[in-house]
Amino acid sequence: MKQKIPLHTRILIGMALGLIFGIVCLQSPALSSFTLDFIKPIGTIFIRGLKMIAVPLVLASLIVGVANIGDISKLSRMGGKTLGIFLVTTALSITIGLAIVSALKPGHKLSEDTRSDLIAEFDANAEGKISFAEKIQSRGPLDPLVNMVPDNIFQATTSNSSMLQVVFFAILIGVALLKVPKESGATVLHFFNGINDLIVKIVQFIMVLAPYGVFALIASLIIEIAGNDPSKVWELLNALLWYIITVVIGFAIMMVLVYPLLIQFFSKIKYLDFFKGMRPAMLLGFSTSSSTATLPVTMERVEKHLGVSPEVSSFVLPLAATINMNGTSLYQGVSAVFIAQAMGLDLPLSAQIMIVLTATLAAVGTAGVPGAGLVMLVVVLEAVGIPAAGIALIMAPERILDMLRTMVNITGDASVSVVVASTEGELDEEFARKHADD
Ligand code: ASP
Repeated sequence: MKQKIPLHTRILIGMALGLIFGIVCLQSPALSSFTLDFIKPIGTIFIRGLKMIAVPLVLASLIVGVANIGDISKLSRMGGKTLGIFLVTTALSITIGLAIVSALKPGHKLSEDTRSDLIAEFDANAEGKISFAEKIQSRGPLDPLVNMVPDNIFQATTSNSSMLQVVFFAILIGVALLKVPKESGATVLHFFNGINDLIVKIVQFIMVLAPYGVFALIASLIIEIAGNDPSKVWELLNALLWYIITVVIGFAIMMVLVYPLLIQFFSKIKYLDFFKGMRPAMLLGFSTSSSTATLPVTMERVEKHLGVSPEVSSFVLPLAATINMNGTSLYQGVSAVFIAQAMGLDLPLSAQIMIVLTATLAAVGTAGVPGAGLVMLVVVLEAVGIPAAGIALIMAPERILDMLRTMVNITGDASVSVVVASTEGELDEEFARKHADD
């Protein structure tokens, strides 16, 4: 049955009501703890439901995606094109971030007192992230490559953070399926095709919860961010206002300039239609802060509303959700320079180039889960020689910036899928015009 109110409107209503309800809760400790105990779990169940199917979805859709491409030469062409666009958009987003942060110099606007206050407030928290980053930090130059190859595929599939290993394994199976005689591969292909169909159904079940899930997520987030002392939060956010503005300007440039140009240049889809088609996925990315959790919806939107063929979407999007993170890399570039500015460090051009390189790699290594971008920022800072303890300076707005950068990540992923589909002749533009708004 067709829902009368469109999905994005229902999600927006859930978000708006969650925001209002969260603010009302701040007036009453009893209501706040009721919300955390009994309403927040609805949001947690919703996110867990989406994450629950992330690994099977990536596995099944990439295997089928690669196998359906049909031959190795087409696979190499599409793979090369996809990775090339990932690299270009990632490097571009970091460069845009660096240009804005160098022009606005938000780090110079932070007073000495505020700097010490922020470090005192978040030092312990920063320590945790740094030691976590050190654990995952590569020791040798080729370690990121080594880490892509799972030593036990069953173990890799037990963690959403090992998605890159799952991606590697799935591509390998897909390629092997192209190489074995059709009859021997048929059963396996048929099996994963079936899994794909089941996942689509399960996503529909989970999405029934979406408006209530985002209501619960936003309401509990407001309560958690405000903590015991909401006025302190305002104070901190105010002190970091220039930093927040810098990151947000960067995100806005990606959303209103870079992606529209990309879409317009490579396809005949109007950006407004693209935007309309992707609205529910963008809002979900914002509410869940996870590209991985949003992946099923991103795939559904590009296929059923933008006319990208399942062949392209099932190959490009699982890869994109794992390694293409334009919002994250822009955020990492801005944050690294902001911290250096605030600490009075001068970054020569060579250090800025180093930021572009390491942030590109860091974005690839960032898992599509909440907060992963901040941990990988430590890797960037250490590579450039900025004290990692500086992340204490940017902890206060982390949650909200995570929500925004995830939205940008998802929009970037969808844009790449449209570009690849269009250049491969796998995009139905007429379909997009008719169904973007559904
Ligand atoms: N939360 C982001 C994502 O899932 C990753 C990050 O922390 O930057 O896309």
